[in-house]
Amino acid sequence: TAVLDAPVCRPASVLALAPVVGADVTVPATGHSGGVAYANLDYAASAPALTAVADRLAGALAEYASVHRGAGHLSQVTTARYEQARETVRTFVGGRADDTVVFTRNTTDSINLAASIVPGDVVVLDIEHHANLLPWTRTGRARIVESQSTIDATLAALEDELASAPAALLAVTAASNVTGEVLPLARLAGLAHRHGARILVDAAQLVAHRGVSIASFGIDYLVFSGHKVYAPFGAGVLVGRPDWLDSAPPYLAGGGASADVSIDDVAWHAGAARHEAGSPNVLGAVSIAAAADELRRVGFENIGAHDDVLIRRLDAGLAALPHVRPLRAFDDGLDRVAIASFTVVGHTPRAVAEHLSSRGIGVRDGKFCAHPLLAKLGHPDGAVRASFGVGTTSDDVDRLLNALAELA
Ligand code: PLP
Repeated sequence: TAVLDAPVCRPASVLALAPVVGADVTVPATGHSGGVAYANLDYAASAPALTAVADRLAGALAEYASVHRGAGHLSQVTTARYEQARETVRTFVGGRADDTVVFTRNTTDSINLAASIVPGDVVVLDIEHHANLLPWTRTGRARIVESQSTIDATLAALEDELASAPAALLAVTAASNVTGEVLPLARLAGLAHRHGARILVDAAQLVAHRGVSIASFGIDYLVFSGHKVYAPFGAGVLVGRPDWLDSAPPYLAGGGASADVSIDDVAWHAGAARHEAGSPNVLGAVSIAAAADELRRVGFENIGAHDDVLIRRLDAGLAALPHVRPLRAFDDGLDRVAIASFTVVGHTPRAVAEHLSSRGIGVRDGKFCAHPLLAKLGHPDGAVRASFGVGTTSDDVDRLLNALAELA
């Protein structure tokens, strides 16, 4: 039984741990005679809002006014909520006291912002989600390094590239959105720094599963999305060192970013405001902060243990299904967040996903916005991905395994 399964997770503490869309939600009768209990195994795409997040959001939604502008009481409350969210996020990811926390639309937006501030070449691995690839290649200053079969060999390849010519940044995922493999962030940070580069970590797939510390891992910039940490869509963050952020042109031009404006001239703010022109997504920021508070309260030791139980159960079950082929980017048996991708011999990924859907199980199929990695792993046509979160039970995993066994 998973650590967060009944009775620990449900129903006793269900309000705290289970998503608003709980595992007992039934899918509509369409395609399912009478409806079947729905197992959402697609947390890596978007994790449903936790009850604590929905409650905090409802409170903020019930009373808000202009942010950063009005002197009225409600304006001050709204501004305080927004600025408090920044501080909560900084603490959540173990940021340094002087790190800037910029609220963005999502991870993709955060990395595009980062691409607009980096003063030089960027070294990137070929295993990345497109969000951590295309913003860099578009600058024309990306140097792509081929990942190797082991993490040690991959670090050596990165080292060669960083030593071959100066680079400003190493941009790397914390955990693969395809295989769930977790990269050794402190080692990567040390490697970048040894060669005079900074490191940006795409933590989109890590922060809902593992505690992270920017300061102690030596990370310079970290980005993630609200909708992957049990908050709604529409808000993300970039947390990191202030100097490049303050000397680069604003990411967006407009009100809020500008301190003093004449027809001929503009003085831009320093700090987060410089890159947050326009009215910000206060409700998104408040929701991310609520999710951060709730994940800390639940505890990453519990979440990690829960993940571990589920992923081991899945791995063992998949190993017993010879027609199912799991995907890995590295041979090392790296730690994994609760994500597993696989193919099923004789069935297209879409056919597998549709079969699972007919059994009330929601997974993702396709190329997961990581086309180069899928091609490299020999699956240019895609794969199937199951991913778990705090509302997932071992029964959900067993249902997945049973449904896959039917495809033998
Ligand atoms: N990076 C990784 C590792 C992801 O898994 C994702 C989303 O799947 C992204 C970046 C992009 O996130 P968003 O679509 O929220 O910008």
